[in-house]
Amino acid sequence: MQIRDGFEMLWLEEICPQNEQLVFALLGFLFLDCCISTHRVDVSSRAAVTVVLCERKHLVGHGLHGFSGNSGAGRVIDTAGPITVCLGVDYIVSLTRHALTHLNTVYEHAYVEGVNSQPRFMAKIAVTDGMAEDAVLRLRDAGHEVDLSPEKLEGFHAVVIRSATKMTGQAIAAAPSLRLIGRAGVGVDNIDLEAATNAGILVCNTPGSSTQSVVELTIGHLLASTRHIPTADRDLRGGKWTKKALKGTELSGKRIGFLGFGRIAQGVGRVARAIGMELHAYDPYLPEDIARDQHCTLHSDVHDVFKLCTHIAVHCNLTDETHHLVNAETLEMMPGIGADGTACGNHLVSCARGGIVNEDDALLALENGTLSSCALDVFEVEPVGNHPLVQHENFHGTPHIGAATQEAQARIGFEMADLLIDFFAGKTPNSVVNRAVLE
Ligand code: NAD
Repeated sequence: MQIRDGFEMLWLEEICPQNEQLVFALLGFLFLDCCISTHRVDVSSRAAVTVVLCERKHLVGHGLHGFSGNSGAGRVIDTAGPITVCLGVDYIVSLTRHALTHLNTVYEHAYVEGVNSQPRFMAKIAVTDGMAEDAVLRLRDAGHEVDLSPEKLEGFHAVVIRSATKMTGQAIAAAPSLRLIGRAGVGVDNIDLEAATNAGILVCNTPGSSTQSVVELTIGHLLASTRHIPTADRDLRGGKWTKKALKGTELSGKRIGFLGFGRIAQGVGRVARAIGMELHAYDPYLPEDIARDQHCTLHSDVHDVFKLCTHIAVHCNLTDETHHLVNAETLEMMPGIGADGTACGNHLVSCARGGIVNEDDALLALENGTLSSCALDVFEVEPVGNHPLVQHENFHGTPHIGAATQEAQARIGFEMADLLIDFFAGKTPNSVVNRAVLE
């Protein structure tokens, strides 16, 4: 059966009886003007390009030994004579509605080795908030075009952002070629997920790659708070030896309350427990057995966590529900006396997202002594500027550096690069945030 431009389709009908309609519909799209039947074609045909459709395991049985595509995507199996490209049918039928945006990619990725060893579909990828150099190289080596300072997103097939770029509905509408928004990091509160989903754009993140770095920063802030490290450092630099004034308290023997008990909180919890803290959490979406396995008491009322715990660590996502979850009322509930009876005061740390802590209320709580310390990595408005909170003696902070380690950035970059390469080779990424696009 001849299709266009010297392509020939070989349909091994007896081994592909299922999903016929779907495969036909997809192929009709793939080869546009081709006409396909289940008529079997002689394998020795001399067309310029033969496309073989079958399950991989049957290829050898038909004398087609060279097939090596690990995803089932196309691979040349005979470069000496006429070119033969195999499309694993298991791969094609696994494509769903998502196929509509992918099929051209599948076609382009049917490598024609010896003629053109690069994938012929080269995605245009915009990177707006920076990306590890080696990760950019990996994308370019895979044949994709990467623009590190795009003026606008029109014409790009993917955009990689961190937290600075806001993918609003308007921004999404202005980028009609976009197929994927890659959030290099975790939080997707800077992306209009509904607009992306309606536009059929996949949103993916790299959820686990910065966890350990944020865990360690949170522990650093906790220790810095309870041992007055920022004040001590400021005093030393000012020539003051304030040894007597800087009596701290131990974390050991105290209760720590987590708002949100996901990946990062659990990591902090493991360290906190090793130090000797008692773990409590409020997370209405967490299965109870996960908390139990981590030796953490899960509470259904957030107020119970504030009433019990002298140390609060914020690790939930920023949503309408969590906006200003930490406020004057909840802070007032904190006990000030540790589980071990020490008058340790109350301590707040957040490396999650600005907006969960009401910063004006946190300042008030520092001023009236409700809070002994407040440590933030994230702010409602970033950069935070000269907010009076950051000037308070018992406040210390960092400029959203939770994921800013060499290790996390390398992991994030490579994870994102591999995700994009796989996506443009027709694979569905693991970390899809808006799965509705796939349904
Ligand atoms: P995660 O998804 O594993 O955990 C978040 C947890 O919050 C989940 O268990 C979820 O059930 C819970 N949650 C959702 N709504 C809640 C609510 N109303 N009340 C209480 N809990 C709720 O995410 P993670 O990887 O642990 O990240 C946690 C936070 O850290 C996110 O906000 C993320 O954006 C932030 N983060 C910050 C940095 C940084 O640079 N400072 C880096 C990475 C992640």
